[in-house]
Amino acid sequence: MKKIIWTAILTMTVLLTGCAGAPTQEPERTEFFAMDTAMEFTVYGEANLLDEAKSIISSVEEQVSVTDEHSVLYTINHTGTGKLTGNSAELMEKALELCRRTNGALDLSVYPIVRAWGFTTGSYQVPDEETIQALLPLVDYTKIQYNDATGAVVLPAEMEIDLGSVAKGYAGQLAAQMLRERGVESALLNLGGNVQTVGTKPDGSSWQIGIKDPKGEDAMMVLSVADQAVVTSGGYERYFEQDGQTYWHIMDPFTGHPADSGLISVSIVGDEGVVCDGLSTALFVMGLEKAADLWAQSGDFEAVFVTASGEVYITEGLRDRFALTEQYADTPVSVIGR
Ligand code: ADP
Ligand code: MG
Repeated sequence: MKKIIWTAILTMTVLLTGCAGAPTQEPERTEFFAMDTAMEFTVYGEANLLDEAKSIISSVEEQVSVTDEHSVLYTINHTGTGKLTGNSAELMEKALELCRRTNGALDLSVYPIVRAWGFTTGSYQVPDEETIQALLPLVDYTKIQYNDATGAVVLPAEMEIDLGSVAKGYAGQLAAQMLRERGVESALLNLGGNVQTVGTKPDGSSWQIGIKDPKGEDAMMVLSVADQAVVTSGGYERYFEQDGQTYWHIMDPFTGHPADSGLISVSIVGDEGVVCDGLSTALFVMGLEKAADLWAQSGDFEAVFVTASGEVYITEGLRDRFALTEQYADTPVSVIGR
């Protein structure tokens, strides 16, 4: 574990929604359902960009959906081969890079395991250990043959892949990029726990992004961010209970069971939505100690961890951008240094 350097944390006293300064422009807002989650986009200033932002999300979804038989990923999973182009090729490259960077804590080929637990259909079940052991040899992202010059993918027999751990972050990042190119200086894209900000709030202050208490319903903390993404992976997002045990949708690719690292929520803050999304899933699997080591060797993200025992750890770079909400003011918070 890295040096813990500072433990007194300010409590957020302003209301999340009632922050200082009158907006200088009227926002346009839309709510919709995509990628299996409720999304809400708010754009200030430039009119009529919401539809374009939404269509970027749909186009990523159409390409990488594992259930839509017209998607290229569906073809790859059902025939063992296919060709990625444009955004889906870029997403694949970035996702494989994250698998390597996290030594397989993120593994795109964990899909057969996710399905065995019923997370793909909602017919949840605890598979028997024999089934898990039989599927585990299929989980190995290093066996995904991807040719980044041609976009061609070849999978070993029975292997199937899923980009669900990174697709929302990537789609949000693309939509933000389009908005910036069109001159938008202020937008908030919420892709169900994947938050992508563009610029600042219209009054020039940072966006205040609330992070949920993984064991409750309320905002536990607030992060100040501008022009960055904040992505949270939590055991509370998709789970089922059986015989007093909770089983969630983030899998440990090494055991074939739901990740049991002692963390129940990981939030990542960074410039690239796809990196934040992949790392939030991977660091949840890795646990606090390994996650802190990866952070210490990296320069492109900051993180907030909540442990099963209710402690909060934040990385150094968030020290001045983090606050507990009043209701959670007594929560112990530690700062992780390099
Ligand atoms: P969410 O999609 O709920 O925001 P994540 O970004 O953490 O959450 O992605 C979780 C999804 O990714 C799961 O539903 C599953 O399909 C897939 N997945 C689960 N564990 C892993 C893993 N270790 N590596 C790659 N993908 C995973
Ligand atoms: Mg993720």
